[in-house]
Amino acid sequence: MKLKLAVLAGDGIGPEVTGEAVKILGAVAELSGHTFEFVPGLIGGVAIAATGTPLPSATLELALEADAVLLGAVGDARYGALPPDKRPEAGLLQIRQALGGFANLRPSVAYAALSENSPLRPEVTEGVDILFVRELLGGLYFGAPRWWDRAETSNGGGEAINTMRYTKAEVVRVARVAFELAGKRRKKVTSVDKANVLEVSQLWRAAVTEVAQEYPSVTLEHQLVDSMAMHLMNTPRNFDVVLTENLFGDILSDEAAVITGSLGMLPSATIGGAVNLYEPVHGSAPDIAGTGKANPLGAILTAAMVLRHSAHLENEAAGLEQTVRQVLAAGHRTADLARSSEAGQTLVSTSEMGKLVHHRLTESIDRRQSLHAV
Ligand code: NAD
Repeated sequence: MKLKLAVLAGDGIGPEVTGEAVKILGAVAELSGHTFEFVPGLIGGVAIAATGTPLPSATLELALEADAVLLGAVGDARYGALPPDKRPEAGLLQIRQALGGFANLRPSVAYAALSENSPLRPEVTEGVDILFVRELLGGLYFGAPRWWDRAETSNGGGEAINTMRYTKAEVVRVARVAFELAGKRRKKVTSVDKANVLEVSQLWRAAVTEVAQEYPSVTLEHQLVDSMAMHLMNTPRNFDVVLTENLFGDILSDEAAVITGSLGMLPSATIGGAVNLYEPVHGSAPDIAGTGKANPLGAILTAAMVLRHSAHLENEAAGLEQTVRQVLAAGHRTADLARSSEAGQTLVSTSEMGKLVHHRLTESIDRRQSLHAV
């Protein structure tokens, strides 16, 4: 198969971590007989420096004609004084909007080797593997009307409104994504709402329940968002795919990030639009940019999501995730993961971590291929 990837590395640690992810994707393609083409493009502060705008039209064109977009991170304090729509971060918002993905996928996985990195007890996090499916284009963040009576507020009064709004069609399309993915995992969807108070949640619950009829092998449960916040910390192992509207998903997926234990480990994908967009969750981390301290595993696990959701190479995606586990189990740690209290750790740089994953992955693919050949 052929896959054309637009690679928008962006600012700060973006190019460092994306570089490692691209090398690994290249190796997977070569060893498994596929053709991946990587085409670089500018976004964020580097795009402002070169063209005066955070999302140049050439980048947008490149992204729209690619099969997938792999993004690093944007953000550069040198442009902090610009109006919000001219800053590096505006490039990210603009490309997300232009690509039009409505389902944001964010895994929350516990790694046995990192069990001491989470503030939760190891016996609580052991074996946790949750996939959040968050609706991304509707709900409170986009609903109309929205306004704030600023003048009245400065006179001592004031009022503001945001609107949580969903159509049934918007709920159905994201629910189908959740059920499809659950069907390939542990076959359980937990749909989160606030149906005891909000009409929009009652519509959400009714629409999700209807979609569940199309997927008889997948179990559906409903959770109210407030008790879900508690269950996620008490019994995270009970969840497989968690389906949420926009605001609830924003909050809950950040809460669940403590299960993994480092921001540098978290991948994401946004699917359902013209082109899928893949990006690690973290930002440009200017405090460590250029020091070799950035953890590339979030970007590398994002590459695994490219393999799964755009290249449809499930075995290769799972193999890459397994390799990351093995490298961590062997004690290799970037600075964000290192714990002075644990013996048997080796501190490694961004590129060393990339090489370790690359080396182990190519070894295991070679081994599999020679077994097939026998
Ligand atoms: P950040 O995610 O860049 O960094 C937060 C903290 O986590 C920092 O201490 C950083 O060193 C650390 N960190 C982040 N990623 C890491 C990694 N891979 N390895 C090791 N440590 C890592 O968030 P911030 O500091 O709030 O924002 C910095 C800039 O990034 C801002 O300009 C912000 O607007 C932007 N930002 C961009 C994105 C994005 O591109 N998706 C997301 C969040 C923030």
